Amino acid sequence: MSKPEKIVAIKGMNDILPGDAPLWELFENTTETILKSYGYQKIVTPIVEETKLFARAIGAVTDIVEKEMYSFTDSMNGDQLTLRPEGTAGAVRAVLEHNLAYDGPKRLWYKGPMFRHERPQRGRYRQFFQFGAEAFGFSGPDIDAELIMLCRRLWDDLGIENVRLELNSIGNAEERNRHRADLIAYFERHEDLLDAEAKRRLHANPLRILDTKNPAMQEMVGGAPRLLDYLGEESLAHFEGLKKILDRNAIQYTVNPRLVRGLDYYNRTVFEWVTDELGAQGTICAGGRYDPLIEQLGGKATPAVGFAMGMERIIELMKAMGEPAAPGQCDVYMVHQGEEAQMLAFTLAERIRDAGLDVVLHCATPSGVGSFKSQMKKADASGAAFAVIIGEDEVAQGVAAVKSLRGEAGEQQQETVALENVVDHLVDQIVGGHDHDHDHVHYHP
Ligand code: ATP
Ligand code: MG
Repeated sequence: MSKPEKIVAIKGMNDILPGDAPLWELFENTTETILKSYGYQKIVTPIVEETKLFARAIGAVTDIVEKEMYSFTDSMNGDQLTLRPEGTAGAVRAVLEHNLAYDGPKRLWYKGPMFRHERPQRGRYRQFFQFGAEAFGFSGPDIDAELIMLCRRLWDDLGIENVRLELNSIGNAEERNRHRADLIAYFERHEDLLDAEAKRRLHANPLRILDTKNPAMQEMVGGAPRLLDYLGEESLAHFEGLKKILDRNAIQYTVNPRLVRGLDYYNRTVFEWVTDELGAQGTICAGGRYDPLIEQLGGKATPAVGFAMGMERIIELMKAMGEPAAPGQCDVYMVHQGEEAQMLAFTLAERIRDAGLDVVLHCATPSGVGSFKSQMKKADASGAAFAVIIGEDEVAQGVAAVKSLRGEAGEQQQETVALENVVDHLVDQIVGGHDHDHDHVHYHP
């Protein structure tokens, strides 16, 4: 028989392996704790939605809708469906469908996989994870500032340093229209400098040309009319209000007049958190206000603002800072030899778990349970604080050996503890002595 063909993951879609899982968990726990501390509530929406939701919410002339969506026809009923490329459209759909924002404003957050058919490269994948927050029903700059400060707190708690905030206001539709006319005229005067993509966007979405990464266009784009100069009184007041709160709270930022967002629905405040440590894909979090969207999707006009973070990029940034103090796989590793010892170990492991500790019980592989020595190697590798050892002598005496695995080999203490006292002994040693909390991450470069 020939060897069966190996099936591998789809290009641009990554496995998160157990080695990286603690880092993801640390990041997710820290983020969720902070979101909760600001009063944000979790929402989970389906990964698949009707294609027209994204087409309408995100806008036709955007990278996502033009070329990045995984869309398909449901073969059962012919429905046009899409794997979500971002989280805002689904969140807004859910808020409208369940009337969530009608009894007052709502602060929500989500996390999960997003799908975009992009050319896979560092920091750019076809399945990637986002954390996002959305605040519905708040119109002032205070909530914009809150979302930004929540991010700042997250970077601080994660120990992420080299990240900066870029800020802009893209005004309202009328202000953008006036700017747009002048912008198109400017680009037309410099048509010889426009690349193919810019030419295509010239009349459909000229604002996006400002966002170009083409080095040959930078200087020309730098001289283009600035949307900031077209803002009316209200938009300016909103922007000034936001900057004032950030200044008062010592949040540093740079105003980048060329900052626009890839999605059509944004207005007024837009911001990005950017790092230089990740190469070309340096934006780890992007957000802004999207006041028109809810009405555009058939709801009652409701102001809205939010952000989305690219989780892979933040994980890579955390990795670049060094290895965070790795949590062990468990608190206790149970080692045993002999049939009765195995029975006792199995039951004792359950009792230790009842007390809230994490226990890995040594289990048989095709080559058996192995010697004490090989089991102890596994115990060491597990990162457990203690090994509980039960052999034939211990069974005979009704005791277990409890061995500390922390510290140098020579200093490791071993005590004999009566079986009925093992749980209390471990709880005392582990919960009593150690500091379990991961308030701030420490990295060991
Ligand atoms: P870009 O200009 O890099 O394509 P975008 O405007 O498409 O970004 P958003 O839709 O605002 O990005 O998504 C928010 C964040 O999600 C980004 O800032 C980034 O951190 C992350 N992100 C977006 N697309 C990808 C991707 N294909 N792979 C990994 N992360 C991504
Ligand atoms: Mg993109």
